[in-house]
Amino acid sequence: MFQGFFMIIRYFTFLIFSLASLLAQEAYNGNTVLFEFSKIPKDAQVFFESKKVPLLTHPLHVKEKFVLIPISYRSFFGDKNVTVLYKNGSTALALHVKKKAYPFETITVAPSKVKPNKKQQERTSREYKEAMKIYHTSTPKRYWKEAFIYPLQAKITSDFGTARMFNGSLKSFHSGTDFRAKTGTPIHATNDGIVVIAKNRYYAGNSVVIDHGEGIYSCYYHLSALHVKLGERVKQGEQIGLSGATGRVSGPHLHYAMMIQGVQVNPLQFHEQINSLFQEE
Ligand SMILES: [Zn+2]
Repeated sequence: MFQGFFMIIRYFTFLIFSLASLLAQEAYNGNTVLFEFSKIPKDAQVFFESKKVPLLTHPLHVKEKFVLIPISYRSFFGDKNVTVLYKNGSTALALHVKKKAYPFETITVAPSKVKPNKKQQERTSREYKEAMKIYHTSTPKRYWKEAFIYPLQAKITSDFGTARMFNGSLKSFHSGTDFRAKTGTPIHATNDGIVVIAKNRYYAGNSVVIDHGEGIYSCYYHLSALHVKLGERVKQGEQIGLSGATGRVSGPHLHYAMMIQGVQVNPLQFHEQINSLFQEE
């Protein structure tokens, strides 16, 4: 009986302490939402729309936890269910997804990059499957340590999410952030990790993808030179290649993208969210 009493106290304490950081959140499609838990039962599990999301340890305060919830660009809008389940109950967190009015742009590229032939189609589908298998693999180990940095300091020429029309026929959306970069500009790893892709691909051109652990991947496309190899461990700020104009491009630039738990998200908005953990009040 005493045990039951203390358990009630414990969960009551959990609720009081955690409510302050669990206020209702609003997000756009393509965003990552961060929920912080100053206190949470040891056996707690977090679910987003019935899918389990990893409960991660705060980088500065080992007793505190957080979750990253990636909202797909093509997500339905409205109220979402985020549920914390533990032995003696559950807590629902409020998350409202709003539709962002992303701008529109038209782009002209080589015709073969819009209407690939059969052999090229086989290649793109093979490369797509290979990449998705990687992105849906969540390495439990954490490689990232510090706040994320930009891959280079340059003007942003196209934001994530822009609705795109290629050569007047192919509709798509921009899955990353483009930085102005003339061919040969050094590109840097945005955090520590392991290189999981370092090769030429049909649309992305010469590509580097880094696994930062915990389901977080950063991607660097259209490079002119690769300076890292598959399986190599890289440090934040390390030069991983040079920018270029390989793959489906209308000119040289860096396409920087991030995948969180297999979902393509706005990379710079992700930076803001995760980097907020490093900002002490
Ligand atoms: Zn791009």
